[in-house]
Amino acid sequence: MPVPLLDLKAQHAAIKDSVVAEMLRVVDDQAFILGPAVERLERAVAQLSRAKHAIGCASGTDALLLAFRALDIGRGDEVITTPFTFFATAGTIHNVGATPVFADIEPETFNLDPALAAAAVTAKTRAVVPVDLFGQMAEIERFSERMPDIPVVEDAAQSIGARRRIRGRDVMAGEAATIGTLSFFPTKNLGGYGDGGMMVTQDDALAMRLRRLRIHGGAREYFHDEVGYNSRLDTLQAAVLLAKLPHLEGWSSARREHARYYDEALAGVAGVRTPVVRAENESIFNQYTIRADRRDDLAAHLKKKGIGTKVYYPLPLHLQPCFAYLGYKAGSFPESERAAAEVLSLPIFPELTPAQLEETVSGIRSFYGR
Ligand SMILES: *Cc1c(COP(=O)(O)O)cnc(C)c1O
Repeated sequence: MPVPLLDLKAQHAAIKDSVVAEMLRVVDDQAFILGPAVERLERAVAQLSRAKHAIGCASGTDALLLAFRALDIGRGDEVITTPFTFFATAGTIHNVGATPVFADIEPETFNLDPALAAAAVTAKTRAVVPVDLFGQMAEIERFSERMPDIPVVEDAAQSIGARRRIRGRDVMAGEAATIGTLSFFPTKNLGGYGDGGMMVTQDDALAMRLRRLRIHGGAREYFHDEVGYNSRLDTLQAAVLLAKLPHLEGWSSARREHARYYDEALAGVAGVRTPVVRAENESIFNQYTIRADRRDDLAAHLKKKGIGTKVYYPLPLHLQPCFAYLGYKAGSFPESERAAAEVLSLPIFPELTPAQLEETVSGIRSFYGR
């Protein structure tokens, strides 16, 4: 029995009628650019994220780019982030003209270490970008505690609906940041049928600026206060996402159940370390990522058995050829480099069957000979 890493067709089959109905409404209205579905989705996501404002845009990448522009970050500025993340986190820092400054991760959660990030602050630091990797929130409150005057852009592309208990209160992904950024890339927990993204903030002025930047920088049509972008959330995507949103919580809790199964079933397997979720966090498990001895051989073994896995991410960003100009070397961030060599993400999508979960576990056990 094959076990794909992700089966989007299984999900689509279960919700097809409601998705198609929402899409048809947009088609019948012919209101394709910033149509009513975009605003409806913005309101729903703001509520979910407990944010005062949510602003749709073309992708999770653009959400980061627009966030940096709204914070006036550009040439000569430094932005601190993790090297163990998807490329866009640092690519967008470069693309606004600023310099990415990396700090290493905390090995248990794979998230940016607040103490190491604070140690990287200079007079040029204009923002810090913790990433909620694999669906678990970073220690978001500790960044503003350690660097109170530095804006926090939370890359929540993988963590919509995740929460973290801070001083006795549940805080949602994006809620506590200066700006939180979301992605609706199809593989995320809330995925569109194409690209899409969103920014959340509690700040009225930043929200207004973000709304302006996504339509070429003009608050009034054909009058431009600054140079912005064409980066709207497509109305058809908003319609798809509106139909999917009521299912998000159920899907994420199905992922958590699968994670619990893996945690128990893999606990005794020498060679495998299961992911750590901090007691104060509730992860949405966008990925279930183990550390594995002989990782590449394990992946090949599972592939032969028809079990899909993937390495997120095989080369930390400080070692990417495009960032050679930053001057980092192998050994600059040992925890990120170790993670890149050891991690393997297993199938965790909500529609996985018990038989598929068992198949994955027995594939792993057979590799390690137990
Ligand atoms: C997916 C992702 C992005 C980019 O989102 P897109 O919608 O694909 O542009 C940014 N950061 C992280 C951590 C991501 O996982």
